[in-house]
Formats: sequence, structure tokens, C-alpha cells
Amino acid sequence: MKILIANLGSTSLKWRLFDFAGGRETVLHKGGLERVTDHGAAIEECLATLKEQGAIAADADISAVGFKTVLAKGLSGCVRLDEVAVASMEAMNAVAPAHNPAYVSGVRQFARRMPGTPLVGLFETAFYQWAPEAAMRYAVPQKWHEAGIRRWGFHGASHKYIAERSAELLGREDVAERARQLYVDGGSSPVREPALRVISCHLGGSSSITGIRDGVAIGNSLGLSPQSGLPHNNRVGDLDAMAVPFAMRSLGLSLEDCERQLCKESGLFGVSGVSNDIRDVQAAAGQGNAAAQLALDVFVHEARRWIGAYLVELNGLDALVFTAGIGENRAELREAICRDLEHLGLRLDPDRNAGTRAVEAVISSDDSPVKVMVIPTNEELVVAREVKRLLDRGQPTLND
Ligand code: AMP
Repeated sequence: MKILIANLGSTSLKWRLFDFAGGRETVLHKGGLERVTDHGAAIEECLATLKEQGAIAADADISAVGFKTVLAKGLSGCVRLDEVAVASMEAMNAVAPAHNPAYVSGVRQFARRMPGTPLVGLFETAFYQWAPEAAMRYAVPQKWHEAGIRRWGFHGASHKYIAERSAELLGREDVAERARQLYVDGGSSPVREPALRVISCHLGGSSSITGIRDGVAIGNSLGLSPQSGLPHNNRVGDLDAMAVPFAMRSLGLSLEDCERQLCKESGLFGVSGVSNDIRDVQAAAGQGNAAAQLALDVFVHEARRWIGAYLVELNGLDALVFTAGIGENRAELREAICRDLEHLGLRLDPDRNAGTRAVEAVISSDDSPVKVMVIPTNEELVVAREVKRLLDRGQPTLND
């Protein structure tokens, strides 16, 4: 069974083609296109490339196309993306303007181009379906809550991968199996004592931190929208709700100005005034740029704040995991985030940390009660596995 996972950005299409033949999970092809102006043309190019490279002989070799969809009104989990589902995604475009519109238009293009092929979305919110209600509720009037103004949490595919892989690496196959079965049984598979407590730090262009107990998420730093929690590349993180009306009145901004500035001109870029890429911000800070240093300091401060929150909720910690572009590659930031936490049982080994880049590794010292780990994430694999599971259940294709 060949499953194509399509990662749709507003100006990009990246893909991975998985083959599950013989019980294996093989990546047959990995590619991408940047500066895309028309997703339809990009899909055409993707399919042509897969044929040229011998990964497929015909479009029909692809059993399904899977998407790491962001959020939809009244919908989560792993679902068939028929027009009703796509319209539910569209209804939330304003909450995720950097992400949802690309999926809405891209999925519609796939439906036109591959009308007989099942299209399946694993929503980024899916991993938080079993988080405690108190962790997901904003203290807003009930009507707001019913309108969907609540914490949803995102980066679900990445944090679920970390839940599974960290448990495997820590020798807790029971917890790994619970994480694997999560979308089947909602985290009710038995695990043995003691609880496995993990904090997963997905630090990249978008960043979020999740507490995970026995393979099940207890919350996520991202709330209603992907513009919350830690500061992102060019998107704001947590912000007092009264900031928007105050900015509108005192700076004379329109609602659209506020939306644009919070979604495109904030985060690391907004504070540093230098770049939305942390490499550039670090380079500028190294040359004495105080605003760039402040952007890094804010990022580290917010990361520690969320780690602290989950440390308390989990009543201690077994492993702190770093993943994604910054988490896997930026040793200086990992060190800054882990600074002075020895009293909590967390001791980083400076040499292991400095020597680790984009590979699985333990970077704490041997005597550290809390293991600090780097685990490269694999979101596409998580999506592909769930798409396969959905197909194996034999549901009819919606766009046949
Ligand atoms: P992501 O969204 O996970 O691709 O992460 C993007 C962020 O991670 C950017 O701020 C990059 O500076 C940083 N990053 C990604 N890859 C690397 C790398 N190979 N080396 C250093 N930093 C990286």
C-alpha cells in the first residue's frame, strides 16, 4: 500500500511517499517544491516526478493522500476529507491564516486531480482529545466556549511521534504501545507503574511544548490558534487578550492591521527586527545586537515557563525531549533552556549537547535523574500510519 503525504504551505508543496508493503514502512520518495503559486500545477509536478523516479507507475498506485491538517470546526482525529470536512476547515481559516487556507485550497485541488483517491486528514488537534478539560478551557463565557474559543493544541503529529519514540528509547514498550493505539482506544490500554512523564519541546518555525503522561497529552502550549504559546518565527505567542483592542485604539490600527502584524510581523522577527530565522537572530546577537539577544531571551524564557507548567502538572519528569529545526540543531538554545535546573534533577552534559545535531541522542549526564534527549521528529510517518489504519478499516472512498 502506497500512501502519499502532502505538506501544503501557502507557497510550497512537500511530499513523502510511503510504502507499507510486507509490513515495512519504507519512504519511496521525498521531495518538495518552493515558490508555488498554483497548487494544481505543483500537484501535477509531484505526480510526474514520482513516475519519473519510478516510485509509482500510475496515479492509481497511490492508495490515499494524507494531510497534516490543522483544524476544522467541529472535527478532529483522522478523517476522510470530503467537501463537508474541507468546508469545516475553511470555517476556521481566520484562526490559522498562515496554515488553513493552503490546506483548504490544496486539498480541493487534489480532489479535482485525483477524484478516485481517498484524501485523509490527521488534524493537528487530534492528540489533545484526551487532555483534561481544565487544561483546554479558557475562562470565557459559555457562549464563547461553545463557539470554539477554547484551547485546541497543535503539532499533534510531532508530539505523538515523540510520545511513542521517547517511550521506546526509555524501554517502556507498554507506554509506546499505548501511544500507538491512542487514536483507536483513547489512551485506555493498560500500562504499568510508575507513570512515564515526558515533556516534548517542538521548537522550530512554529514552537510548542506538550506534557505527556503515559503516552497521552495533558495539554499543549498552543491554544485556540497557532499564534499562541511560545513566540514563533514571525507570529506572536501568548498575548493578553486586551492588547488587540488597546492597540486598535491607541495606535489607530484596524482589525486587519492587527491580524497581519500579529501573524506576520511578530515573534522572533518582531522582537529582533532582524529575521524570522533563528540562525540569523543568533548571528546578530553574537555581533552585539541587543534586540536580537532579547528575542532569544524571550524565546528561552517562554520555553522555560511552559516546561515549568508541565513539570508541576506531571509531578516530576522522566525525560525532556527536544525536536524540530531549533530543538534538533541549536545546542546553544537547548543549553539556555536547561540552565540551572540541577535542583530539579536535570543535568545537561555540555559536550554531548554541543555534539548533537539532528540525531537521536541522550544529552544529559549519566547521573541526571531526568534524561534530556534529542529526537528528530517524523510527523509524516505518524500521519501515514493513521491514514493506513483508516484505509485498513475499509471505509468507502468519499470522492469516488
Ligand atoms: P522548522 O520549522 O522545524 O523547519 O524549524 C525552522 C527553524 O529551525 C529556523 O529558525 C531555523 O533557523 C532552525 N533550523 C532548521 N534547520 C536547521 C539547521 N539544519 N541548522 C540550524 N538551524 C536550523
